Amino acid sequence: MKPPRQTPMMAQFLAIKADYPDLLLFYRMGDFYELFLEDAKIAAPVLEIALTHRGKSGGKPIPMAGVPVHAVQTYLRKLVQAGFKVAICEQMEPPGKSKGPVRREVVRVVTPGTLTEDDLLTARSNNFLAALAPPQGKKEEIGIAALDLSTGQFQVSLVNSWDRAAAELSGFDPAEVIIPDEWTLPDALSEWQERTTGLGAWEFDPPTAKQTLFDHFQVATLEGFGIHDAPPCQGAAGALIAYCRETQKGNFAHVTGLSRIYSDDTLILDDNCRRNLELNRALRDGRREGSLLGVLDVTITAMGARRMTQWLNRPLQDVALIRKRQDAVAWLLDHPRQREEVREGLRGVHDMERLLGRIALGRASPRDLGSLRQTLAALPALEATFREDDPPPLLQKIGQNLSGHDQLSQQLQTTLADTLPVALKDGDVIRSGFHPDLDDFRKISKAGKEYLGELEKQEREKTGIPSLRILFHRTFGYTIQVTNTHRDKVPYNYIHKQTMANAVRYITEELKEEEEKILHAEERLVALEAQLFSTLAQEVAGHAQALQSTAQSLATLDLLTAFAQIADQRDYTRPIVDEEDTIHIRQGRHPVVEAFADDDFVPNDTTLDTEENRLALITGPNMAGKSTLMRQVALIVLMAHTGSFVPAREARIGLTDRIFTRVGAADDLAGGRSTFMVEMTEAAHILHHAGPRSLVILDEIGRGTSTLDGLAIAWAVTEYIHSKCRSRTLFATHFHELTELERLKPGIVNFTVEVKEWQEKILFLHTIARGAADRSYGIHVAQLAGLPPAVINRAQEVLTELEATEMKKQPPSPAQPYTQLSLFMEPPPEPALLELKAIDPDDLTPRQALDALYRLKGLL
Ligand code: ATP
Repeated sequence: MKPPRQTPMMAQFLAIKADYPDLLLFYRMGDFYELFLEDAKIAAPVLEIALTHRGKSGGKPIPMAGVPVHAVQTYLRKLVQAGFKVAICEQMEPPGKSKGPVRREVVRVVTPGTLTEDDLLTARSNNFLAALAPPQGKKEEIGIAALDLSTGQFQVSLVNSWDRAAAELSGFDPAEVIIPDEWTLPDALSEWQERTTGLGAWEFDPPTAKQTLFDHFQVATLEGFGIHDAPPCQGAAGALIAYCRETQKGNFAHVTGLSRIYSDDTLILDDNCRRNLELNRALRDGRREGSLLGVLDVTITAMGARRMTQWLNRPLQDVALIRKRQDAVAWLLDHPRQREEVREGLRGVHDMERLLGRIALGRASPRDLGSLRQTLAALPALEATFREDDPPPLLQKIGQNLSGHDQLSQQLQTTLADTLPVALKDGDVIRSGFHPDLDDFRKISKAGKEYLGELEKQEREKTGIPSLRILFHRTFGYTIQVTNTHRDKVPYNYIHKQTMANAVRYITEELKEEEEKILHAEERLVALEAQLFSTLAQEVAGHAQALQSTAQSLATLDLLTAFAQIADQRDYTRPIVDEEDTIHIRQGRHPVVEAFADDDFVPNDTTLDTEENRLALITGPNMAGKSTLMRQVALIVLMAHTGSFVPAREARIGLTDRIFTRVGAADDLAGGRSTFMVEMTEAAHILHHAGPRSLVILDEIGRGTSTLDGLAIAWAVTEYIHSKCRSRTLFATHFHELTELERLKPGIVNFTVEVKEWQEKILFLHTIARGAADRSYGIHVAQLAGLPPAVINRAQEVLTELEATEMKKQPPSPAQPYTQLSLFMEPPPEPALLELKAIDPDDLTPRQALDALYRLKGLL
């Protein structure tokens, strides 16, 4: 069948669209971006805009929907949030320049991982685009690269298992993950499936990827980035750059470096752990408030806030580096005047990382350069803070990194006007006096406008038409507008231009001459201003690397100062972090619960090591504070590894390689896993990966099944962690039978959280003590929760009865774990029974019957 005849414009649209079949195409037409055909039908309901029609294609109306250019950000945000990708197609020449439709090109593809506009991003969070290079050949090595295009931060790491890859990815929490086309993620990464975008598999091939990196960074070796001997890292990083090239079209010069992260240098946290410890978000409502980040993040700038998220999600495992950070925090804590000066100075600092990104991508507005000017002007005062009182090396280095921009700062000052418009086209961007031509054009334009004002006055007097006005119209230029009532007074030299419902527009020779002068001057003014602005932006882009390094130092400074500030406000202590294996916390507090409990928080001591105090079994009533205590220990350990001070009187934290948590119960129905299955999968993960340097937090194991099954599993898991993983472990449980393990296994220690019974009520003391609880007071807590009195009374009766009839059970011997009938296999049939079944008594002689009896006895 012959394809339907198209208008030239539609033919152009279809040709461009053919290159972006899976994306929505925003096709620029004057002041609107239009969507056509299927794109229009898909986008209209998402954007809540009208679906209209325009012309016909093959005899059928063409569906169309449009959004105004000035509001495009709002619409892009909606589409990206709904999971769409958008290709932005611009007009590349002024209308009327060529025959046929205006030349158009896709200038950019907007995807969740490549956003750079402030309006589309959350200021205090990074927006990472990640790429994953799967293992090639026999080696189980996976390369993971992550780039925040809005700031230029580019990192890559090499891991040797999917489990590590999952932990690494969750550390970045990328908005989009690039993987080779037609490759499916393994199960361990399935939760990222929705965020994946396929890219030609060859882009991940190390030789191709290497060349991409050479071209982008203009280097001849990757040694400087530490990935010359890591092909999977090259694959992931190269594919990321290839994807950015494809989506950004222009260059992205602010991506000036690539740093390799060695996952062995960081304390590993997996997604489960981040969630359970409420590191970035509260479990209850997913908000920042109520999370560790929510409490600790008292940074001033968005850069500092993003750095805080990075440090908390990637704690160090290097004692020397941790101590360097601690030294800086300690100095800032001990020098409150300087701390206040720094915080004050930071208030004048803008999001330099992101505005440098926009400058490099050619998307900077005059106000972006204005923000840079203000930021650079704030630096000398900040730098001066570190000139005396002997600051530690990290702060000295930061101080040095804040200098060296005087000349650029001066240039911005002399070039840009004091007050800047949102958009370049609004004019008055370049300071008067900066360029003589610019001043001339401005004068002409201003004088011309004043002259028109004069002319309007004269014409009113001459014609006696009080409502006569000289107005500017986009199509007709300057016109004299006269209302219909005064039409008969219009003089003969007025040339008619347009009749409207209640007025008429005219021009005169004199008006046109003046218009010519004004428009000519304005056209040149706009062009010159744009040229001067672009030169300035290029000048800034030329300093990108040094400016980025300053931006990073500002982010780190803000973060360290925030650590000191919070340590001061909340009375945190500097922990001793060492290579030993002891975790000793005196009078520790939960940083988040404490923040909400004001003065009522009860501190507790904890000691864990790899010998006598290897596994703390915590029993105690419901609501006593078991979960709080365990998370508090995990959070203190984690905070100590970031360089932060910790909520305790005293803390000694032996280096920890990984924190594992198994907490609470949740269904994963969509993933096809029941509550108990989730619980067991998490437990399996811990048993397979935890080692002596790990910290394991178990908040109940085996509660999702029958009591005996659950107890048996909890028992076996405890033994395994104690003897095989040998990890430092905190295990809270209501299986009081487990406390027997203290007697059987050296290194397992019982603790209980104390309560006081008083006038038939219980008081939660929240203090931890050696020993085991014998009751859970569950009914009491159920009563507090508001269960109907009838239910509470009946439960009490049943409990009393059960306790009376309960036989004292011996705990299982550790060497012989529980055996039970398997759910999945029939028990093997008894041979005697089989034989008996086969016998037909009516068919036997007395002698045969006697023989059978002997045989049966023999079989038994
Ligand atoms: P369950 O066995 O029912 O899970 P639990 O023993 O784990 O209970 P938590 O959830 O840790 O109890 O604590 C219950 C509440 O007690 C917390 O929400 C917190 O408000 C308060 N709490 C816990 N520990 C302390 C403490 N040390 N000081 C003050 N309040 C505390």
